[in-house]
Amino acid sequence: MKQLDTKFMHPAEQINVIISRIYHSGMTTTSGGNISIRDENGDIWVTPSGIDKGTLSPRDIVCVKPDGKIVGEHKPSSEYPFHKAIYDTRPEIRAVIHAHPPGLVAFSIARQIPNTNIIPQAKNICGEIGYAPYACPGSEQLGRNIAEVFKQQKYKAVILENHGVVLGGTDMMDAYQRFETLEFCCRTLVNAGRLGKLRLLSDEKIDEFHARIPHNISHFMDVSYPSDERAIRTLMCKIIRRSCDQGLMISTYGTVSVRWRNNDFLITSPNVPRWDVQPENIVQVRDGMAEAGKTPSRSVALHHRIYQKNPQINSIITTQPPNLMAFAVSGTKFDVRTIPESWIFLQDVPSIPFGLHYQEIDKVADMLGRNRAILVENDCVIVTGDKLLQTFDYLEVAEFSAHSLVMASAIGPLQPIGEEEIEELRKAFNVK
Ligand SMILES: [Zn+2]
Repeated sequence: MKQLDTKFMHPAEQINVIISRIYHSGMTTTSGGNISIRDENGDIWVTPSGIDKGTLSPRDIVCVKPDGKIVGEHKPSSEYPFHKAIYDTRPEIRAVIHAHPPGLVAFSIARQIPNTNIIPQAKNICGEIGYAPYACPGSEQLGRNIAEVFKQQKYKAVILENHGVVLGGTDMMDAYQRFETLEFCCRTLVNAGRLGKLRLLSDEKIDEFHARIPHNISHFMDVSYPSDERAIRTLMCKIIRRSCDQGLMISTYGTVSVRWRNNDFLITSPNVPRWDVQPENIVQVRDGMAEAGKTPSRSVALHHRIYQKNPQINSIITTQPPNLMAFAVSGTKFDVRTIPESWIFLQDVPSIPFGLHYQEIDKVADMLGRNRAILVENDCVIVTGDKLLQTFDYLEVAEFSAHSLVMASAIGPLQPIGEEEIEELRKAFNVK
């Protein structure tokens, strides 16, 4: 799929792509949820009422004219009144998403607002979260309740009591990223709550993190793209898309790099939604400098140092899947002595304090010489390996293990494999 360039995409087309993505990533049911776009003419394009979300086509999207006239083959969504109420209240909002994803609904039925100070990106993307009291779905009252919260400019995301969530954005991609990030946050919060006590970041720590973006990285001009370099770009795009499909990455999270020649490598850019990454979005890094005109991931210096210090490492993935992150935000030890496969693939996965992977890159690069994966508190998991597919597999194994541990926490504590059995695995699978 081409990158979702909203500038050149018809509203009906954008809605169609995004509702399908939401449905296929398990964030809405066939009947639930509705999304809309207000275009520059004031026309509101909205999903139809009662049509299967799994098989929607752009022709199914309904247009409501400013005078209330409806153009299209179906009736507009029954929740259209609150979409209109939001647009009437906030002119800068051009896209609205409403759905009932399980994580956000958990907060809406527990009548709580999720705290996004668990990882630095989440707070900036989601902003402050509002809360609208219950009213009957489709009613004018629900529209008034929601519009009342949106009157406060600081809110772009609102929990609907005993119902779900509604989010606004300056365009569809902006609203979608906020939606996806907030739902992932909620899933992480729920998982972390099962494991232990939540550890939150202060606003100062989050600001510090954002100040660390490498604005001043050097660039080189004479960039060329030999065949082997292009092959890596294609492979990276495939693995990133697969990571999104498997729930290991979302639009706003996830960095991938692959060693190219010597200590030169290719790395993702922070500004491109991961679902839509194309080969031309990947950044070539030569002698620690980035190809002209592109911004590499903020962890480019760390990746460079890892490749310099560890000749056996040829690919790196950093991301924030909701079960591994439950360990990273609750300070709970992630013990991979669960099943033989997990231990054979990962061995021990240590945790390091928040910020260390920017402040002490030598230390972290050395650690990754000894440990295949590291959890960074309130930040991410870093996984390394030889071929990119192998590193991706390690990441999957890690997230699956974390998921099992989170589930086991409800039925009884982990009974780890013993030292003797580990020795046996060490010998049988030639693990150092
Ligand atoms: Zn609803």
